[in-house]
Formats: sequence, C-alpha cells, structure tokens
Amino acid sequence: MKILRKISETRKITSALILRKKIIGFVPTMGYLHEGHLSLIKAAKKKSDVVIVSIFVNPLQFAPNEDFTKYPRNFKKDEKLCRAEGVDYIFYPDIKEMYPDDFSTYITVENVSAGLEGKIRPEHFRGVATIVLKLFNIVQCSFAVFGQKDAQQACVIKKMTEDLNINTKIIISPTVRENDGLAMSSRNVYLTPGQRADAAYLYKALEYARRKIMLENYNRDIAFLKGQMSKLIKSRKTATKIDYISFNNSRTLEEVQTLKNLKSASILISLAVRFGKVRLIDNIVIKR
Ligand code: AMP
Repeated sequence: MKILRKISETRKITSALILRKKIIGFVPTMGYLHEGHLSLIKAAKKKSDVVIVSIFVNPLQFAPNEDFTKYPRNFKKDEKLCRAEGVDYIFYPDIKEMYPDDFSTYITVENVSAGLEGKIRPEHFRGVATIVLKLFNIVQCSFAVFGQKDAQQACVIKKMTEDLNINTKIIISPTVRENDGLAMSSRNVYLTPGQRADAAYLYKALEYARRKIMLENYNRDIAFLKGQMSKLIKSRKTATKIDYISFNNSRTLEEVQTLKNLKSASILISLAVRFGKVRLIDNIVIKR
C-alpha cells in the first residue's frame, strides 16, 4: 500500500493504471475510519482491480461554527486499517495541495442540496460537491462508493455526476450500525456514555416509522408519525434538539406529507438530532 500526498504523483499513477485497463474503485473519506468506512472499502474491492481511499478533512464543507479543527483524526490507525483491508493507495493530501490560496471554483448542485441538511448547513453540499469532483478528477476512478448513512450527500453526488456527465459510477452502500442500532460515525467518539446510550433512540424512532408503515399499514398524515418519533427521541434527556425529522422521495428529496394514495414510492425517512454539541444524522429508506 502506498501513501500519496501529491496530486501530480497520484494522476501519474492512475493514468498508468487506466492505460493498463485497470478498474479503479474509489472510497472518499474524512478519515478516523470505522466499520462503516471499511464496508465501503470491501464493496469497492469486490468490483475493482485497484482500490484508492482518500483521507481528507475538507474545510470547505464545515461552517465556521462547526467542528473542522476538532474533527477526530488518527492517520496512523487509518493507515493500519486500510492496509488490513488490502487498499492499494491512500490519497492523503494536505489542505494547500487541494486548496491553493487562489482557489476560486465551486460546484453548486441545486434543489437536492436545498432541504434537510442543506437548510441547517447552507454551504455544506457546495463544499462536498467541490471536493468530490476534484477527487474524481485526481484519482480518475471508474466508480466510487458512498454510504447510505449520508443519504442526501449520495443524492447530491449522483445528481452532480448525472448533470455534469462525469464518467464515474456512483455506488451506494448500506449503513453499518452498532449492536443497538446507532449508525457508526466518526463523530460518535464525542458522545458521553449517557448521550451514547440515548443516541440509540434515533434508530428506534426510524424503526417505529418503518413498523407503522410497513407492518401496520399506516397510510395517513406524516405529521402524526413525526410527532410520535419526536416524542420518543425527546423522552431521552440528553437529546437536546431535533433539527428535523423528514419524509422525502428518496431520489428527488421532495417532501412527502401524507401516505394517502402513495403507491410504489421509495421514501427516505431522515433525521438530525443534537446531543449537546454533538449533531447526529441517520435515515432509513422504505419502499411502498
Ligand atoms: P466521512 O468520513 O464521514 O466523510 O464518510 C465517508 C464515507 O463513509 C461517506 O460516503 C459516508 O456516507 C460513509 N459512511 C460513514 N458512516 C457510515 C456508516 N455507518 N455506514 C456506511 N457508510 C458510512
């Protein structure tokens, strides 16, 4: 496994791989790897000749009041984990390599970026889309794997590749969870033991909605389900604020208000909840 710190070196290597008709699978990450990331690497490995993982905490997707400087980092551990998974290259650039002082081009994906996370974090997806397109151009991958955990991010990236005719296939891999249902996240390390226990209620709330709709055939207003989910989460002392609980079309992200007359729809149920300073997101998709 080789660690690449420079764009020029990386492109030289990937160009040579392409000439040799190798399939390059790519997994972009911000590091502090956990089983969720490793599942994406495993998925990439199955379909490729060469796997590249990028580790870059992208300042552009953090607002000034967010946790960019405090975001957990542990390159040595990440390196070990990647080696154990049989990763071929880690692209690990520094900030100046990716964003020189005169950097001035940004990607905005409209509509799908607007709601949910986009409402609370207005610049976030502009930062995500910009870094992902840069990374695609650097690693020249045949396909890239993203996690369902960040459902809206997956929609934004898919839309960007479609709209800009980017020659990279986007694969979405299922969310990996802890035993009690909490979605794995690098940010879970911030949780106190009390918050960690309460955080499992996010998945319980999502599962409640799934049960009502899929098993009990609930088919009326979403407002009732949202209310019940909210009650369940608020019953946990350390859940300090619910940013949103939302039901949306899983592809267009248009909001769903009622289940009445809704047939053969794929619905994304997503939420964002703060536990003190720690903000967690999660989602499930149900097909009706
Ligand atoms: P991050 O390092 O948080 O930017 O995440 C890098 C990639 O890993 C993104 O595509 C995430 O959606 C994905 N990811 C993060 N957590 C999980 C998880 N628990 N299960 C599956 N994929 C995940």
